[in-house]
Amino acid sequence: MALIVQKYGGTSVGAVERIQAVAERVKRWREQGHQIVVVVSAMSGETDRLIGLAKQIQERPEPRELDVLMSTGEQVTIALLSMALAAKGCPARSYTGAQVHILTDSAHNKARIRDIDAARVRADLDAGRVVVVAGFQGVDEQGDITTLGRGGSDTSAVAIAAALKADECQIYTDVDGVYTTDPRVEPKARKLSRITFEEMLEMASLGSKVLQIRSVEFAGKYKVPLRVLSSFGEGEGTLITFEEEVVEDAKISGIAFSRDEAKLTVLGVPDQPGVAYQILGPIADANIEVDMIIQNIAAQEALTDFTFTVHRNDYARALEILQGIAQTLGARQVLGDTQIVKVSLVGVGMRSHAGIASQMFASLAKEGINIRMISTSEIKISVVIDEKYLELGVRTLHEAFGLAGDPAP
Ligand code: ASP
Ligand code: MG
Repeated sequence: MALIVQKYGGTSVGAVERIQAVAERVKRWREQGHQIVVVVSAMSGETDRLIGLAKQIQERPEPRELDVLMSTGEQVTIALLSMALAAKGCPARSYTGAQVHILTDSAHNKARIRDIDAARVRADLDAGRVVVVAGFQGVDEQGDITTLGRGGSDTSAVAIAAALKADECQIYTDVDGVYTTDPRVEPKARKLSRITFEEMLEMASLGSKVLQIRSVEFAGKYKVPLRVLSSFGEGEGTLITFEEEVVEDAKISGIAFSRDEAKLTVLGVPDQPGVAYQILGPIADANIEVDMIIQNIAAQEALTDFTFTVHRNDYARALEILQGIAQTLGARQVLGDTQIVKVSLVGVGMRSHAGIASQMFASLAKEGINIRMISTSEIKISVVIDEKYLELGVRTLHEAFGLAGDPAP
């Protein structure tokens, strides 16, 4: 008998029939003798709908009130799923985040979980009930409702699994696992049976939308065994593992990409101490996250160029700030580009294989794809390229690194 936390996302509970299908699946697991905690998202589209209602009243609603509103989506699904389970003869009880004391900080709309009191959940499990918990929400010390950021139900599930020391946390979604890349861009993408936690973390932060990045961080911190699988079919899904040996043959596990990028350049800034700080300080003060940074070496005139990327949503604000700074610094010009994307190779195998970067650059060059920026870490290489080459770039690399072939034995 195992204790399993199962999380079902919005599309998996998107209609009453879908909720009934989830109940059927949960019931089957329970009949195999397992203890089951279910964490659910709101029905698909519901959170967006609620935000839309708020925006009809106020462009920027009070974050506290937005949390009260948004958390209702999940409250609907916990109740419906518990009813569906009961109707199938499977005793179940629903709980909001506050009821099971998912204690968070008070950062409304992006709260972080601090603690979970698992006693209540355990008591129900011991009494033979399935426990259904609302994802995405918690409660702060004042008793105010908080939410964990979009996609936050993944994090709820992982946190509950950690608190209960569950044997596995299963994330049910509308894809049947983690793929070598997005199958909508490369139809030859292959499902991975395993991926290391570190790779998954890179994939999530580099644009793969399968799991919320914070849920992966959480799983890493508390060593929660995670599995991504489909609620629409059967199959083992993808196990996120903490062992590295399993992938020793594969150099690269996947290709992530992000269309949400924009690039800014300040031309002709003085090459002297403090300049990077003068440029990026005000950007950081405006709460804009900077991703890649390039600074060239100065040629003769002791002037240099400084380029960095930000999320496309922050582009306009970053540009405005930069224009002000450029004046102060006496820079020649500020350039901006929103027609760029980031494509990344991810694989722990990079550590033990040389020449991955040159193989990557050679493949892109052969297709005439110009690389605008490069950044690397131990297990990933990212390039910024023009947006129009995204599909070609991803497919080229997928082919070049043999990702479409049969999985390594
Ligand atoms: N319902 C929330 C959202 O749409 C949380 C989640 O689905 O994980 O972002
Ligand atoms: Mg989701």
